[in-house]
Amino acid sequence: MKLHEYQSKLIFAEYGVPIPQGRVAATASEAKQIAHELGGRVVVKSQVLVGGRGKAGGIRLAKNPGEAEELATQILSMEIKGLPVRKVLVDEAADIEKEIYLGITNDRAARRPVMMASSEGGVDIEEVARVTPEKIIKAHIDPLLGLQGYQARDIAAGIDLPREHWRAFGVIAAGLWQAYKKSDANLAEINPLVITADSKLLAVDGKMVLDDNALFRHPDLADKRDLDIEDDSEIEARKYGLSYIKLDGDIGCMVNGAGLAMTTMDVIKHFGGEPANFLDIGGGANAEKVAAAFRIILSDKNIKAVLINIFGGITRGDEVARGILAAMEEIKPEVPMVVRLVGTNAEEGRQLIADADMITAETLAGAAQKAVAAAEGGK
Ligand code: GDP
Ligand code: MN
Repeated sequence: MKLHEYQSKLIFAEYGVPIPQGRVAATASEAKQIAHELGGRVVVKSQVLVGGRGKAGGIRLAKNPGEAEELATQILSMEIKGLPVRKVLVDEAADIEKEIYLGITNDRAARRPVMMASSEGGVDIEEVARVTPEKIIKAHIDPLLGLQGYQARDIAAGIDLPREHWRAFGVIAAGLWQAYKKSDANLAEINPLVITADSKLLAVDGKMVLDDNALFRHPDLADKRDLDIEDDSEIEARKYGLSYIKLDGDIGCMVNGAGLAMTTMDVIKHFGGEPANFLDIGGGANAEKVAAAFRIILSDKNIKAVLINIFGGITRGDEVARGILAAMEEIKPEVPMVVRLVGTNAEEGRQLIADADMITAETLAGAAQKAVAAAEGGK
């Protein structure tokens, strides 16, 4: 789960990272009011969950509250990389002397977090990493010991940070590490961390990506989720405890178990089809859950066929069949359905759906072939 810039910076600030004064606004007149409170010279920043806002014209400097209002009007009517701007952050403008990059992410290969920094911060850090990777200084962090003082100093030296800033940099690096660790983040990034004209360090931009699998430990952070930018069907799926990811194909998949779901998608592709979604209904799925899964799959207008692949273990075949029937009753789908049901209570399940208008298959390969053929037939 991605956090907005303003949310990320407020978390960083809790851990001692200095950020500009500012507030978020949903209207241009609010933006004007905030600019007025901040003394007039502000930066108006689109809050959308993509990078490169600056280059897209979503970050603009205003000299006075009137200009802030004008820019906010423009920015609030923008779309950046397909995402509508619903809020702007109005921050006190910083006088920037230098832009530094500072971030922490998980290095899977090293099996520990890594702090990265560069003297070439700002909007083109990806380019720096590609062209001059030696300009990115790294330090791996022992998750039990945490970021050590010497590591922060090594990084400061590595990016040629003037000595006078080392102390402040140490506080920021330690704060970013705490924010990353305590929030169970996958990414915590300040780009740019700036040196201001009056010689202070300031986190001008912030970004955090949280580990969805750890969100249950952070109800306060989970509440920050921006439902505006998520796919409606994915929100609906989460409500029922279903793992659903919408894709671009035309064969809907309803499967129990993440591994089996991925295998099912592979086999569909193997036979020349394109899965429309990943969906794991989980173990012990009951009729209500199955019906919800059905509604979600069929809400996708691209669907030309649905493949239901259930291996009954904890999930019982008759429960699934009852769910399918209930959903069919409710939704009356017009696309062909292919069902493969094996395992616990599969026989009872098959009997329940025998009268329904569905295509059945014994094996996964057979089911996938039938689903691909059915989707093509529908074209
Ligand atoms: P991003 O483009 O989404 O990464 O958004 P940033 O918040 O990083 O802003 C992009 C660029 O705008 C920064 O690298 C700065 O050069 C500039 N910028 C952002 N805030 C300020 C500010 O307060 N003052 C000045 N002078 N420039 C700013
Ligand atoms: Mn940035």
